[in-house]
Amino acid sequence: LAKEKGRNNYQFYTPTLNAKTLDRLKLESDLRSAIDAGDFELHYQPQIIGSSGQLWGLEALIRWRHRERGLISPAEFIPLAEETGLIVGLGDWVLVQAVKQLAEWRRQGHNHLVVSVNISALQFRQGDFLDRVKHILQEAQLVPDAIELELTETMLMQDVQSAIQTLKGLRELGFRIAIDDFGTGFSSLNYLRHLPINVLKIDQSFVREMLQEPESLAIVESIIALAQALGKETIAEGVETRAEFDVLQARGCRLMQGYFFARPMPPVIFDQWYQQQTQSTPGVSDQCQPG
Ligand code: C2E
Ligand code: MG
Ligand code: MG
Ligand code: MG
Repeated sequence: LAKEKGRNNYQFYTPTLNAKTLDRLKLESDLRSAIDAGDFELHYQPQIIGSSGQLWGLEALIRWRHRERGLISPAEFIPLAEETGLIVGLGDWVLVQAVKQLAEWRRQGHNHLVVSVNISALQFRQGDFLDRVKHILQEAQLVPDAIELELTETMLMQDVQSAIQTLKGLRELGFRIAIDDFGTGFSSLNYLRHLPINVLKIDQSFVREMLQEPESLAIVESIIALAQALGKETIAEGVETRAEFDVLQARGCRLMQGYFFARPMPPVIFDQWYQQQTQSTPGVSDQCQPG
């Protein structure tokens, strides 16, 4: 019976599989041409200090400006870029761009802004990852404590010993380290104690559910308590409403990011947004010192 079922499944799925394979091949060849043509941009989403409304930093988020399809979300092409190895070059490009943009903002007087950059697992695992980021920073002549690298739990837990070594190297260079989507992976609390990181980013799935689901709220509270006990910062992701903001603020989450404050935007739009913020709320400006 199992065999028969298997055969039926096989026959049934063949046409869809082929269509999927074709889509994937097309996307992969488009991705290669897009990398050659440089059809990518970085958008930046503000991160806010909840208590004062001051701007603390910005997360760089990549977008692909596809010639036929318009803007494509990273959720659609980052996994493919990982599978094909293209992420390594693309990831370097993201770092170079983000560092350049930060240098520009600092020239404009945003003296304490932090820019966070997402790093993919494959990028992080490259033997020469440390050398690459070091080189990118030297070119830009920026202080590395202005750059926060976002890694995920799963990445760090795959090979803990070598991850710790790389993290130590990054911290020695001066980078800040955040764990992205915290709570969705399976990090061991024991290892967390030894990881030289600065920030836990509370995953947006918990923030989205926390007002309806006591369990999600309990997880949010536990992450904040854990971070405080370990001397780390917390950033809540995906804050969309005033009610969510209030709850996070009351629970002691210092930094927030989400549509409630601003969507990711190109640098030109950020400049306008920043001016509007400072005009409509006197006293709002960059923070004084990175935490
Ligand atoms: P992430 O790093 O967890 O980024 C947060 C995602 O949540 C972003 O999606 C952001 O636009 C979205 N977001 C922010 N605030 C809200 C909100 O209030 N509500 C909702 N519903 N969503 C919100 P985006 O830009 O589509 O990026 C998706 C993921 O793609 C990122 O998740 C990150 O894992 C990956 N990614 C983005 N840029 C890069 C990159 O340059 N390199 C690598 N390796 N991965 C990247
Ligand atoms: Mg991120
Ligand atoms: Mg995240
Ligand atoms: Mg994510």
